[in-house]
Amino acid sequence: MNAEILCIGTELLHGDIANTNGQYISKKLAEIGIDVHYHSVVGDNPIRMEDALKLAFSRADIVICTGGLGPTKDDITKDIAAKYFNLTMEFDEGSLQHVKNIYNRLGREMSENNLRQTYFPKGSKILTNKNGTANACIINIDKKIGILLPGPPREMQPLMKEEVIPYLKQFSRDVVVGKKIVVIGVGESKAETMIMDLIDNQSNPTIAPYAGKGKVVFRVTAKAESKDQALKLIKPIEDEMLNRFGKNAFILDDSNIEETVAKMLLNKNLTIATAESCTGGLVASKLINYPGISKVFKEGFVTYSNEAKINTLGVRKETIDKYGAVSLKQLKKWPSVQQKKQVLI
Ligand code: ATP
Ligand code: MG
Repeated sequence: MNAEILCIGTELLHGDIANTNGQYISKKLAEIGIDVHYHSVVGDNPIRMEDALKLAFSRADIVICTGGLGPTKDDITKDIAAKYFNLTMEFDEGSLQHVKNIYNRLGREMSENNLRQTYFPKGSKILTNKNGTANACIINIDKKIGILLPGPPREMQPLMKEEVIPYLKQFSRDVVVGKKIVVIGVGESKAETMIMDLIDNQSNPTIAPYAGKGKVVFRVTAKAESKDQALKLIKPIEDEMLNRFGKNAFILDDSNIEETVAKMLLNKNLTIATAESCTGGLVASKLINYPGISKVFKEGFVTYSNEAKINTLGVRKETIDKYGAVSLKQLKKWPSVQQKKQVLI
């Protein structure tokens, strides 16, 4: 089965917000082996929404919509889907209780227009939204599956992970496993040329390059009946790539670099402080994204000027005079790093 993701919202078309829902849902579907062939975006306009939904179902078995489940008049996704499937809208008592409970907790009166959130296309499977008033739903008729999710990512993501993925797993026998090989210090075209024969002969696993800031990432993806089988398919390609790129390549798991660093520090019971110049605090800012980092992150300095480097960090004036503020040679020779057995990342 293949899927299309249809994100609804005029703010997406205006460029006010990025379509992170499309990205998130695609990733989740890839994990269970459901191919996504199209992403589309449409504004809150009933005629265009209807057209977009028809088009999506003309080329996909599963259409996942996000947005337009709110209480206001422009939130019409459920009505459009009901029209497409030729269903009437039906009141759901559970959803009324759900909305009422949220308003009670907030100590506020439920407003009349919230009643819109208690109606769903008849016969749909209703998914409780733990993080908001808008319950989601799944419509499954004649081998066409429509899934309507709320727009806010903090509401959509748990619904996708906890409800939609387990539901859709029954339609996919395969799992898809991807590994990322990061290549640094080799330009994108050269890196690609170095493994062109592997790319040319790819089928399963596939190799997809994308260039990041200062790096090229190759995503090696295999489809198989189990994770272990998929990893077995990936292994020879991975070994060959690591062999060809040598010390310029490493494998990145799904966590990001700050998470990896934070976990290493926590495991080894090491603390960290940062002293930055041109990055303007970016390294510290990345690290504090990781929950629990306060146990190991002590402080961060942004020392942009040479005076600040001398006065705050104790860099010797002669050193800066001799080598300048940026010098790889000097960094490698930094004596205190070796003497105090500190770790320099
Ligand atoms: P609400 O009850 O908040 O109205 P809704 O289901 O009707 O929810 P929308 O009104 O379409 O959803 O969007 C609400 C907010 O969710 C948007 O303002 C935006 O911040 C976020 N959002 C919507 N769609 C996306 C998307 N595709 N990617 C990222 N964020 C989105
Ligand atoms: Mg809305």
